[in-house]
Amino acid sequence: MSKGLCIITGASRGIGAATALLAARDGWDIAVNYAGNESAARTVAARVEAEGRKSVVIQADTSKEADIVRLFDEAEAALGPVRGLVNNAGITGKISQVRDMSEAAIREVMQLNVIGLMLCCREAVRRMSNKDGAAGGAIVNLSSIASRLGAPNEFTHYAASKGAVDSFTLGFAREVIGEGVRVNAVAPGMIDTDIHASAGAPDRAARLGATTPIGRAAAPEEVAEAIVWLLSDAAGYCAGSILDVSGGR
Ligand code: NAP
Repeated sequence: MSKGLCIITGASRGIGAATALLAARDGWDIAVNYAGNESAARTVAARVEAEGRKSVVIQADTSKEADIVRLFDEAEAALGPVRGLVNNAGITGKISQVRDMSEAAIREVMQLNVIGLMLCCREAVRRMSNKDGAAGGAIVNLSSIASRLGAPNEFTHYAASKGAVDSFTLGFAREVIGEGVRVNAVAPGMIDTDIHASAGAPDRAARLGATTPIGRAAAPEEVAEAIVWLLSDAAGYCAGSILDVSGGR
């Protein structure tokens, strides 16, 4: 039996793609959102369907309000009421020191990682809240341990965006837990995905993973396990939790 629709932003690659597959195995039907990489998104959707679940592939830039509303509308039209949301889409921006950052680079990171995530949460609670007669739901936001490390000399703007995700997760969780909506976050450490190459350092996960207490970077599936657990009823007493998946870092 289906657990219902789970929308995963940025599900075409990395942690989002791994989460789509594990969530499908756990019984969720999946809206696979992507920004530009349609073929990767379609591959993820095919793997979801191979698990016996339904999927829909939806292009939407989750830094834009109109795209976010359309994403939720199209996902619900295809797969029914939304019961789960993973706010996974995120970017670091290019590695740089603050002295060299442009306003545009700072805005781009904040617009997607903070404002887009908040608008996705708004859209979800409007459709999940039992105050409005819906059946409730669960939301997992992707933070990062960068929020407490600060990411000096790399991407302080990104670290600050994840600090905002942490604060927002706490406040929003306390605001809506009485409406049947559980909100939590996962804070990954060094995960082996394309995000490091996009930042300008393809070897970053292997290089810095070796310096962590556990001595390695993680596979995206190791983060997906935590996300899917927080989505599930097994985490029914978790609200406002921020779960580190960081190998002790
Ligand atoms: P990734 O491998 O770079 O994948 C990014 C995903 O987000 C892709 O599916 C991409 O879609 C999508 N995306 C990018 N911009 C988007 C936009 N404007 N609208 C909608 N989707 C967009 O990233 P990742 O490493 O899996 O990271 C996922 C999340 O975990 C992020 O929030 C990140 O901050 C967080 N995190 C990652 C690490 C790590 O070490 N990897 C550590 C801590 C936290 P396309 O394929 O279409 O481009």
